Amino acid sequence: MAYQENSAMAESGNSGYGCTNLVAAVMVALALASSAPCCRAQEMAQGPPPRLASDPHVDPRIAEAIRQVSAERIGLTIDKLVSFGNRSTISPQDEYSIKAGKGIGAAREWIKAEFERYSKDCGGCLEVKTDTFTEQPGERIPKPTEIANVYAVLRGSDPKQADRIVLVTGHYDSRNSDTLNGTDPAPGANDDGSGTAVSLECARVLSQAASKLKFPATIIFLTVAGEEQGLNGSKHFAQMAKQQGWKIEAVLNNDIVGGNLSPGQDSSVVRVFSEGLPAAATEAEIKRIRMLGGESDSTSRELARYIADVGRSYNAGVKPLLIFRLDRFLRGGDHYSFNQQGFAAVRFTEFREDFSHQHQNVRKDDASGIEYGDLPKFVDFDYVAHVARLNAATLASLASAPAPPASVKMQTKNLENDTTLTWEPSAGAAAYEVVWRSTNAADWEYVQTVSGGTRATVKVSKDNVIFGVRAVDAAGHRSLPVVPEPER
Ligand SMILES: [Zn+2]
Repeated sequence: MAYQENSAMAESGNSGYGCTNLVAAVMVALALASSAPCCRAQEMAQGPPPRLASDPHVDPRIAEAIRQVSAERIGLTIDKLVSFGNRSTISPQDEYSIKAGKGIGAAREWIKAEFERYSKDCGGCLEVKTDTFTEQPGERIPKPTEIANVYAVLRGSDPKQADRIVLVTGHYDSRNSDTLNGTDPAPGANDDGSGTAVSLECARVLSQAASKLKFPATIIFLTVAGEEQGLNGSKHFAQMAKQQGWKIEAVLNNDIVGGNLSPGQDSSVVRVFSEGLPAAATEAEIKRIRMLGGESDSTSRELARYIADVGRSYNAGVKPLLIFRLDRFLRGGDHYSFNQQGFAAVRFTEFREDFSHQHQNVRKDDASGIEYGDLPKFVDFDYVAHVARLNAATLASLASAPAPPASVKMQTKNLENDTTLTWEPSAGAAAYEVVWRSTNAADWEYVQTVSGGTRATVKVSKDNVIFGVRAVDAAGHRSLPVVPEPER
């Protein structure tokens, strides 16, 4: 905690939220805990300290909504998905197989029917859709194969903001030891029955809550296929979204969130992976990132920090553990398809994976006693429910919040020790907040409220910290923060 120049003052005056004695005490403690480099800055410090950015915000209606997530229902969903036998993208999807309840076609039809059932229960509040296309033969696709992404749309209640989209996804296809085997058991309870169950349960719970909560922005609950063959489904969906100009602000990809019950698991956390340098950045953007030290401020990284904020605010039962990396070694996931199209997207995955329970034929090795296969008995349904609560709270918070501020700029015309930020008004905003952190800090440290206007001068040097600006509505819902671009 090296940063000490804590005399921030928004140009437009007071902090609407005030500072509690506790925060002040923490600030003093932080100041005392710091060593030599602090002292000069401390002498310069004057005026009220900013609040700590770890200050939580709870909407009691969102807290109530996420309590409705049911581990039992999630267990039933995962068992049902496993009952289709093999959900490989190349498994049968003819009429006969669908009727027999086997293969990916049967899984697709069941997911669709589930979304439709939830919609019926909320008075038709969900639009249930499929994004279907034919994938041409490739390394893992032997012949032209129909792939269908199934999704439900909970349209935003504010016509001015309904084009803003937040999205949760999981993949419903599965595989066993052989990517080209579409017939033998490939239960895929954890990979990715768990993520599919998160999407479905978020749809059920948030569609029920929508009548009371009135989300101004749109929420999409997506399940994709083709993940195991090469992210085919998510790639098609993300490209479609990009081509059609969808304003997707956040993608939550849940893949292997079963909290598998083997030694070494830590069921108190879920990993949240986010890219550093954006996959879609142009050469010019990479150059700017290099100049500004923006390597840890992709929109996906800001989304990860937002999830950390939600994790502090709501009792989901599991805490996000931010991993500043695109994905695990040797593995990829559907969030990358969205990153490639320039969307903010992160991946949720259990803390410790058991590779004998993923991508394996169901079998037992008599010599070692090891049981292989991705079976429901290795999945912790309570853990999946906790992850679903964290997802639902994030979706609800983002969809309730105003749009993130646009055209956020930091003035760099003159050499000066203050920092002036400007931005354009956001639909639904009652106030704005400037957040900042030391360049070597992982998460936002301080926040200063700007109660009016779209311009603030903060008594902190832009050379020493990274700034962001977020919009806040009257109820305190926070948008994603936007890191300013320098303006000369
Ligand atoms: Zn997976």
